Amino acid sequence: DRLIAADPQTGEVRADHAIRPQRLADYIGQPRVREQLDIFIAAARQRGDSLDHTLVFGPPGLGKTTLANIIAEEMGVDIKSTSGPVLERAGDLAAMLTNLQPGDVLFIDEIHRLPAAVEEVLYPAMEDFQLDIMIGEGPAARSIKLDLPKFTLVGATTRAGLLTSPLRDRFGIVQRLEFYDIDELTEIVARSARLLGIEAQGGGAAEIARRARGTPRIANRLLRRVRDYAEVRGDGRLTKDIADLALNMLHVDTHGLDHMDRRLLLAMIEKFDGGPVGVDSLAAAISEERDTIEDVIEPYLIQQGFMLRTARGRMVTRQAYLHFGLAAEDGVPD
Ligand code: ADP
Repeated sequence: DRLIAADPQTGEVRADHAIRPQRLADYIGQPRVREQLDIFIAAARQRGDSLDHTLVFGPPGLGKTTLANIIAEEMGVDIKSTSGPVLERAGDLAAMLTNLQPGDVLFIDEIHRLPAAVEEVLYPAMEDFQLDIMIGEGPAARSIKLDLPKFTLVGATTRAGLLTSPLRDRFGIVQRLEFYDIDELTEIVARSARLLGIEAQGGGAAEIARRARGTPRIANRLLRRVRDYAEVRGDGRLTKDIADLALNMLHVDTHGLDHMDRRLLLAMIEKFDGGPVGVDSLAAAISEERDTIEDVIEPYLIQQGFMLRTARGRMVTRQAYLHFGLAAEDGVPD
């Protein structure tokens, strides 16, 4: 399975609890997001008000859920969490909304996947803190209106463009998370190692950071696998050599590309001559969902310069050919 997906079956959830930052000051990287939220939160607190509704977007594993929890912690309120696909009916959302205490954070992950009928209930709730819902069917149907406590909706999504514009327009604060650079990820790995009681040398944390696809969730997961390797094949300490051996065993290459990344790039090179190719053809060629390609795989490959998104379709770059030790023909973009 892919390293990126959260797997509730493993010890990950437990370990994650120990290392997930609780306060804004412990949230590493994303300086722009941190500075803005720091100000907006302080201002809301000074006014004794709740924070404006906040939309956080970016690829999986970059810290959206963490940020929602931090917002609640910094505001000194409770958080109630749910997700778009779970809220199937208007009544499901109504139940969540009527359960909120004044000031609470309501976190909706994958908010772009809310059914339209549920989304419509959210509009008056966000704007006027009013619940306006139809109950019953046919002649017996009637609409009820209820006042809700003032709350903060924190919505998370992979791409802001997936939201309908009426929903997007109702967020007062919109924050985009970026991939983390190697220094930031090194700091995250070093911090997690400390909290998990792993003795780490600088080079070991940096090696994991370099190969973590710019993503804290992957960095933390690789750290746990490298720890296993260090305990069995080494003396338990996280060194650069141990990290390198363990990551090679996991088939994470020196750029942090995993087998899905390599499959996508190789399919573009071998089956489509490097492109341009449409995302649907690519999805069929590697038997992946189009959404997975757009939300999970390609953002990092584009950010790292392995591929481009053009008006005519996706294209691999010269750097991708080089990565696989292949010669790029003339006309391959840089
Ligand atoms: P998302 O909701 O975007 O998929 P999460 O918030 O679940 O991502 O983050 C994945 C894990 O990565 C978290 O549990 C946390 O331990 C770690 N993490 C995310 N962002 C940061 C950060 N800025 N600093 C330190 N650790 C982070």
